[in-house]
Amino acid sequence: MRADDLPLGELSDLDQTALDALAKRQDAMLARTIGWSKINTGSWNAEGLNKFAPMLAEAFGETEATVELIKTKPIEKVDGKGVMQGFQSGPVLRATARPDAPNQIVMTGHYDTVFPDGTFMDVTDLGGGKFNGPGLCDMKGGICVMLEALKAVEAGPLKDQIGYRVILSPDEETGNHASNDVIMDAARKAHIGLTFEPCMEDGSFSGARKGSAVWDVIFQGRSAHAGREPEKGRSALMAASEFALKIEALTDVREGTTFNIGSIDGGDAVNVVPALCVVRLGARAPDAPSADWAQGEVDRILADVLKRDGITAHTHGGFYRPPKPRNAAQDKLFGDVAETAKALGIEINFKDTGGVCEGNNVFAAGTPNIDTLGVRGGRIHSAEEFMMADSLSERAGLATLILHRIADGRIDAKAIKALMP
Ligand SMILES: [Zn+2]
Repeated sequence: MRADDLPLGELSDLDQTALDALAKRQDAMLARTIGWSKINTGSWNAEGLNKFAPMLAEAFGETEATVELIKTKPIEKVDGKGVMQGFQSGPVLRATARPDAPNQIVMTGHYDTVFPDGTFMDVTDLGGGKFNGPGLCDMKGGICVMLEALKAVEAGPLKDQIGYRVILSPDEETGNHASNDVIMDAARKAHIGLTFEPCMEDGSFSGARKGSAVWDVIFQGRSAHAGREPEKGRSALMAASEFALKIEALTDVREGTTFNIGSIDGGDAVNVVPALCVVRLGARAPDAPSADWAQGEVDRILADVLKRDGITAHTHGGFYRPPKPRNAAQDKLFGDVAETAKALGIEINFKDTGGVCEGNNVFAAGTPNIDTLGVRGGRIHSAEEFMMADSLSERAGLATLILHRIADGRIDAKAIKALMP
């Protein structure tokens, strides 16, 4: 039987050859992932990011891709005093292979972690194939999975049917503000996106993802002595409080859309009317109309608060991750991947989540995608983060099988993309 007549859930000889080769790579994958974990790449550790990126570039040199390290644009963040601070992150890695092949894939991942330099640094073998370490699961293990899958496909005869752009970002955990342009450009050129975030702790893949917004609102009033001439003061803190209360009252006014006031910084001595207050808030929304509504409400409430005499405000931010709802394209891709996983005896469930990742951005570029193809593990973003070691070669096998089926047309990448609205 020709491979392209086989059901998705059955292994071809080519699949089996690749899986055998990947099984032999298990120890090397584990050693590499542990080595990567030991280099701190906290999102604000520019030195660590710049040290690590060339190592990644060298590793992706094992593929047939052209590898570039692209300098990111500087970003601005608002500090607690309402002052803009510049930050230059590490580079984005872009690996491009066969951009003229009939099927184009964008593969994304991030090499930053949530752990600042000097915090969670060590890798510990917990026994039973379980390893604890920073970024093992989220997502240096996933990068390793992606790399080995590409090498496995390129060792076989189907590679000419498939081209890819790998994008590895230094700033996913802080919102991809520096790397998003490169991700969007690659995503627009692809039919399908594959992102290698870890699956959920119970093994589920993410289905729909909400969109996520962050705003910094800097309120400016007028300082005055609170005892001698309080009438001359205009309290930024009072304006911020009114704003915060009105925002919190919006949660669940529209189903599935939530708001959270994360922090309020302002004020000083009790005898001074506070002139400055910085409010940081977030929102999550399940679809584009809800995201538009959320932005509109923030604008409306702010305009309301600014009717107070002598108060001005400056807003920074918005929906940096658009919602990734289910639709016909996503459901078709989910179904094909779940069928493919059966060839490995893996049962995949898709669960909707309020969590966000680069898959949101790839979706916003018009490209259907699956974003939890990385390793199995859990407790991510905590010092108990762990990875199950055997999932390295297992998930590389799954990604290889998906790529084989896209290359031979059994997963019809162009038809799936055509289902996008
Ligand atoms: Zn991640």
